[in-house]
Amino acid sequence: MRKLLFLCLLIGSVAVDRSQALSADDLATREGEIVFGQAWLKSIRSRLGERIDPFCIDLLETWLTRLKNQFDLGTMPMTALCLNNQDFNAFAAPGGIIGMNRGVYLDLKNESEVMAVLAHELAHLAQRHHYRGLRNSERLSTGTLATLAGVFAAIATRQGQAAQSLILGGQAANATSALTYSREYEREADRIGVDALQNAGYPPAAMSRVLQVLSEKQSQATRDLAFLSTHPLGIQRQSDLDARVAQLSFSEARAPVLSNRDFAMFRCVQTEGLPISVQTNPTIDCQPIHKILEHYRDEKFQAALSLFDELPKMIRSTFSGLDIEIALTIKSGDFDRATEAIDTIALFFPSWLQPSIARVDLTIARGVPKLPRELRDQMVQRPERLDLWRALARYAQAFKQDYLLFEARGWDALLHGKLEASKMQLSRARKAWPKTLNQRPLQSLEAAIKQTESL
Ligand SMILES: [Zn+2]
Repeated sequence: MRKLLFLCLLIGSVAVDRSQALSADDLATREGEIVFGQAWLKSIRSRLGERIDPFCIDLLETWLTRLKNQFDLGTMPMTALCLNNQDFNAFAAPGGIIGMNRGVYLDLKNESEVMAVLAHELAHLAQRHHYRGLRNSERLSTGTLATLAGVFAAIATRQGQAAQSLILGGQAANATSALTYSREYEREADRIGVDALQNAGYPPAAMSRVLQVLSEKQSQATRDLAFLSTHPLGIQRQSDLDARVAQLSFSEARAPVLSNRDFAMFRCVQTEGLPISVQTNPTIDCQPIHKILEHYRDEKFQAALSLFDELPKMIRSTFSGLDIEIALTIKSGDFDRATEAIDTIALFFPSWLQPSIARVDLTIARGVPKLPRELRDQMVQRPERLDLWRALARYAQAFKQDYLLFEARGWDALLHGKLEASKMQLSRARKAWPKTLNQRPLQSLEAAIKQTESL
């Protein structure tokens, strides 16, 4: 009992207390997985090093949507997280949460390889490896799931110290072995993942290439590789996969979401500040792109725009190029150009939130308060998208509309598992809300708070 209490205290500092209200059986159903996953995400969100980059999140969602139909995942929602971490790592958490470090783009050369990594992660979810790992653990106890949340959190954020403290506890050993997929599960994820990859219209050989990258990294690595600590490689894994790939006859290629040039440009943006050579990204030299982004961070917007305009048109007109153009032209006051670029992305990707968020920033730059028409609908449909609420907060601050700022901060707090703070913001929003305005946004926030409380 004393040991259990000690563990709970430790977990309290890493994961939210709410996860302790859950038991292993909660993972037994798809609904339970979603509840667990969302509770886990809220508890760790502020430490994940998320990149609030609407373009990256939209793209990752689009890739996941394409792949998801190949798996037995039912109506499970997908939460895509773009992480500002330079290690080669991606992870899947129960309930459809997929995180991808920007470091993977140093090595993944095309969309097929990204899809191979995602297919492997989705296979872990579809095969319910988290739950099966826990169930197979003989000494499963009530504390294990909470410990699992803590260990998972610590590993995902590379908080070595915290993970180690948790692992040293007795039950944590179980939790870690459940989290670190067994070699058998790795082979299963490779096998099922590669079939899904092929059925989604991507060459299965891309999966072999990813495993090769991993084994090269493993042999060069002087420090532990985050991906391999949770997805052990094993000698058998590569040969099993290669045999499987050889069996598959790949014929039906589907047009990727991004063309090769588009993907190369996306890689440049994601590897900002990281050494990516022309050899690994031959289509586009990332150096000038990184320079432009550096000027942007230093608020040298005119200099950044001049450099951007020197790029060949075929690079400027990639989707990532348009994304940069939007940011630069909004900052330097060329609103017509910004509008045109926003409309182009919206035309190709009608479900993306990036264009609406860009329109919010355009409105702020113009100094005329008017929220984009579609924004409220998107907030109702996608309240879990943090980038929407961040955009609303920027808007509210720019035009000194306190009631909107409280609303945005209420959602932000809720998405980070800060229930009390969220309630406080809701009550502030309620007091400041104009009498003539529709109350529905307040009701939505209140309902979401109640739902979180009832878990
Ligand atoms: Zn794995």
